[in-house]
Amino acid sequence: MPATRTLRAPAELVAAGLIAAADLAAVEVVAARYAVALTPAVAELIDPADPADPIARQYVPTAAELDTRPEEMSDPIGDAAYSPLNGLVHRYPDRVLLTPLLVCPVYCRFCFRRSRVGDGGATMTEADIDAALAYVLARPKLREVILTGGDPLMLPPARLRRLVARIAAIPHIEVVRVHSRVPLSDPGRVTPDLAAALQSGRGGAAVWLAVHVNHPRELSDKARDALALLADAGVPLLSQTVLLKGVNDSAEVLDVLMRALVRNRVRPYYLHHPDLAPGTAHLRPSIAEGQALMRALRGRLSGIAQPTYVLDIPGGFGKVPVGPDYWDGGVGEVRDPKGRTHTYPG
Ligand code: SF4
Repeated sequence: MPATRTLRAPAELVAAGLIAAADLAAVEVVAARYAVALTPAVAELIDPADPADPIARQYVPTAAELDTRPEEMSDPIGDAAYSPLNGLVHRYPDRVLLTPLLVCPVYCRFCFRRSRVGDGGATMTEADIDAALAYVLARPKLREVILTGGDPLMLPPARLRRLVARIAAIPHIEVVRVHSRVPLSDPGRVTPDLAAALQSGRGGAAVWLAVHVNHPRELSDKARDALALLADAGVPLLSQTVLLKGVNDSAEVLDVLMRALVRNRVRPYYLHHPDLAPGTAHLRPSIAEGQALMRALRGRLSGIAQPTYVLDIPGGFGKVPVGPDYWDGGVGEVRDPKGRTHTYPG
């Protein structure tokens, strides 16, 4: 029977047929370490009979997460080193991140903030928000505020509206960017009220929404309706995809996903190499594999469907594109998507 509420306890996952009873003890240990949640919208996308189901791999906890490698870190992209205030990360000169809450509708098994998300107590207080906005106001070089988390669309629309309006009213802020999984994982939350909350910056900053989506099956009918509601309301949409072993590490899957995004008025933005989050080695392909996939996409997708393949350098040193590189400036050669080289007078 389909789930009618969010599944959180390992025993509920056994009852839903998503994990075997024999795995319960190990998954209890995983769940004590990292948050677990699958919304009904996500649970119903999973085929429990398929041991390699790409949706299950993203959300259903497994014993593999108990294997923490020496290179993995609880804060892989170094948020803490750039956090002068609670809930604010200032890594780049022109933008800051705010994490108004660390709660999500679902908890992804590869999340780079997995050591922190799921903590309802980490929600920024009104005093934290006031301090963060005063910080932004005092720094005219800032141009963009990114609301992330956690998932900012878990905020009640009235609170989201107030927050967006306050940020957008800061004279030097041009863009408010919101990162979310909600349109796919809990599409019922996307209502005209929520779209209006995102538009409360009108007249001030532009509000963009970056949707995190990793597999074409996540673009269910309800998810596509949610995206259409946002696009019709005038919210520009971007996508973020994490490259994951056994989920989307094939040119065919990425091709279908990127085309579906464009068809649904979402501009593919980033393909993230997975971060060195603890217990996620089983989901990480190599950078060489990611580059080969990007080369394949370059040969088969139009420019508006091409994401940029990026790596967040561990330790907080920033995000950089990691190729593949088509131009060898040293010898004046350029490589085409099929790997053939051509000369060009640099
Ligand atoms: S929705 Fe985002 S922040 Fe939440 S668990 Fe997934 S990746 Fe992490």
